[in-house]
Amino acid sequence: MAVEARQGAGDHAVSKAPRHAAKTRHTKSLPQRVMRVTVLGSGDAFGAGGRFHSAYLTEAGGATFLLDCGPSILQAAKRLSWDLEKLDAVLLTHLHGDHFGGVPFLFMEYRYSTPRTRPFVIYGPEGTERRVKALFAALYERSACEPLPFPVEYHELTAGETVRLGEASVTAVRVHHVPELTAFGYRVEVDGRTFLYSGDTAWTDELAAHARGVDLFVCECSTFETRLDIHVSYPEIAARARDLGCRRLVLSHLGSEPLRRLGELSLECARDGMTLDL
Ligand SMILES: [Zn+2]
Ligand SMILES: [Zn+2]
Repeated sequence: MAVEARQGAGDHAVSKAPRHAAKTRHTKSLPQRVMRVTVLGSGDAFGAGGRFHSAYLTEAGGATFLLDCGPSILQAAKRLSWDLEKLDAVLLTHLHGDHFGGVPFLFMEYRYSTPRTRPFVIYGPEGTERRVKALFAALYERSACEPLPFPVEYHELTAGETVRLGEASVTAVRVHHVPELTAFGYRVEVDGRTFLYSGDTAWTDELAAHARGVDLFVCECSTFETRLDIHVSYPEIAARARDLGCRRLVLSHLGSEPLRRLGELSLECARDGMTLDL
């Protein structure tokens, strides 16, 4: 599987960027895949192209967790027949609906459809517990008043904080999105392999610095011709892609502008259901 991932990287322009740690990777003692990321939702807030909202299922170091949990989470997981029972935790990048709106649907799934008793852990920026509880109350007023049959633990993170999930270390990386919200990307590390997920962000030098040397960088790309200071446009990242020094760059959170030009884009783009191994 790891071999497939490297072949995939060879298909696009970024593969010509310097590859850190290449000496240890291209040997017969290459460890097997240590992390799998399944793109459950590669769409933007508007469901452009019929794509699902943000959700990246990450299996690493014996833990299974979601990076973001958009409202289409149950459809996306069930389309892949993915067993929701395995999920240990959710890490939210920020409190926009397309990134956290699926949490109450998971609560309902675990109450009625896939009964759960073991704890469910939710990480996110400040305000996570209040916003998730308010959303649950808005969507399922009565259920939200009753105790869930499993404990829900909330952990609100600060930028730079690292949490341990199984053998994986996950660090909240501050990114610049909208002024009224704290927004994180997440850097997942296990067994010397690193995956960076940008969440929603403007393109910044800080983001480029975080991406340097990672094995997989899943970066948002919401627009093409429209330049915003809260999202990344394709030309912005395309101009910098070769210098990033990451082994594989995959664009996601794709809006209608990049999707209209999908056939012309030289950088690799995510699609719903895609697995990324490293
Ligand atoms: Zn978004
Ligand atoms: Zn957002």
